[in-house]
Amino acid sequence: MLNETMPHWLTKQAELSPHKIAIENTDDRTLSFLQLEQESKTFAKKIATLGIGENAKVAILSTNRTDMVIAIHALSYLKAVAVLLNTRLSKQELQYQLKQSETTLVITTERLRNDKKLDFPLQKTYSDIQVLNEAEIKLPTQINVQDPFTMMFTSGTTGNPKGVIHTYGNHWASAIGSMLNLGLNKDDKWLLTLPIFHVGGLSILLRSVIYGMTVFLMEKYDSNQFYETIMEKKITIISLVTLMLKQFLKKVGKTPLPNHVRCFLLGGGSVPEPILKQVAEKQIPLFQSYGMTETSSQIVTLSADYAFEKLGSAGKPLFQAALKIWNQNEEGIGEIVVKGPMVMKGYVNNEQANESSFEDGWFKTGDLGYLDEDNFLYVVDRRTDLIISGGENIYPSEIENVILGVEGIVEVAVIGRKDETWGQVPVAFVVRSCSDVSQQMIDEHIKIKLASFKLPKKMYFVQSLPRNASNKIMRHKLKDLLEE
Ligand code: ATP
Ligand code: MG
Repeated sequence: MLNETMPHWLTKQAELSPHKIAIENTDDRTLSFLQLEQESKTFAKKIATLGIGENAKVAILSTNRTDMVIAIHALSYLKAVAVLLNTRLSKQELQYQLKQSETTLVITTERLRNDKKLDFPLQKTYSDIQVLNEAEIKLPTQINVQDPFTMMFTSGTTGNPKGVIHTYGNHWASAIGSMLNLGLNKDDKWLLTLPIFHVGGLSILLRSVIYGMTVFLMEKYDSNQFYETIMEKKITIISLVTLMLKQFLKKVGKTPLPNHVRCFLLGGGSVPEPILKQVAEKQIPLFQSYGMTETSSQIVTLSADYAFEKLGSAGKPLFQAALKIWNQNEEGIGEIVVKGPMVMKGYVNNEQANESSFEDGWFKTGDLGYLDEDNFLYVVDRRTDLIISGGENIYPSEIENVILGVEGIVEVAVIGRKDETWGQVPVAFVVRSCSDVSQQMIDEHIKIKLASFKLPKKMYFVQSLPRNASNKIMRHKLKDLLEE
């Protein structure tokens, strides 16, 4: 078991590797661990004058800037909780999260303050904070692993976003588990372009202080800059989502990857099979992973040794984590439940979700999956997306993968439509690259691969699919469209 307390991560790292670069970036500021520690402590003393102390909830509404990194560490020096807000949310959605989290101060940028116009009494930009005096206080040298450190909301793909609290211990276990799988090299440099307000981005920062590893920070994702940074800046590890992978594959063409790149860690959702095939052809070192806000980022990852052999699998649980498949059907598909020190203790102010999400110490993810004969996890779909037609289970992702293999298809989402005879039947919303692509053409291709009850009864051609602020397809919006 871990000790209850340990030396503050950033203080320790500033002592161990003072001159090593902690944060590198293109147009903002580059900081060593020692500088990061000093700036964070100064920032902490400044916001202490605003009455921020132990257990205060302080929201950060910001793009990935060095200031944001400093603010997060500063809050840990005050034992306050950093509430990370998604900059793409509407004012109304943000107001809900501020209330739900019991935030008392919002730290933001000039632009976001003017854009969002939040109704909130205490808002400060980074420049407002810079001119504050420093409180004369002694900052803690230790952290308690049980204490809360960060709070962020789930993406709200299945309903209202739920606030998740991460303790120091959750982040510690997540960082160590990741390292025991991916390994750690002295010259590792992790590209951070995922938003820090999502756990996939935040976790990179915390690995940086725990490992003593450089992070290359990009304020926001841009496909050109992303490609150039990977090729030119001695990046070794890249966290990314499917959309970024697709754009990278296009750009990389036949150019070989530089030798320094050792890992593309993919999270956030499934990857269509046609993309995985291209990855294999181009010998891209892709590590698929599975995780969620509640598990403090990846909890299951496919290690390098199996990257190609088990293409499409999310891998095995990280060290200290475990998983099971509950209520399996005859195909072995059931709900994925997980356990481990990186799993959150509970949601904020949401007793109902806490009750329904935990059972016998296991966290019920709401996702469906199965294990192959070697115990590798394959994530299938969310439980709520499952279509039951005439007593048969239909998994939208299976149909989507087949449709995506047809030329001229850009995106597709399959959902269930109410049906008097069958209960539900699958229908597809399709984004095509040219209007020549017809339902008949698609049917010709897919009927060879899919049983007839899985063939979408209707295809709706649309310009785009409705996505939330995390860029995930909101299937409930498509269901609403059908009802209209
Ligand atoms: P909400 O919980 O509010 O509905 P959300 O589940 O989309 O939103 P996140 O925590 O951002 O919020 O996303 C986690 C989810 O993303 C997982 O539960 C799973 O459904 C999906 N996901 C993550 N990794 C994978 C993967 N490798 N394959 C398929 N789905 C994945
Ligand atoms: Mg979820």
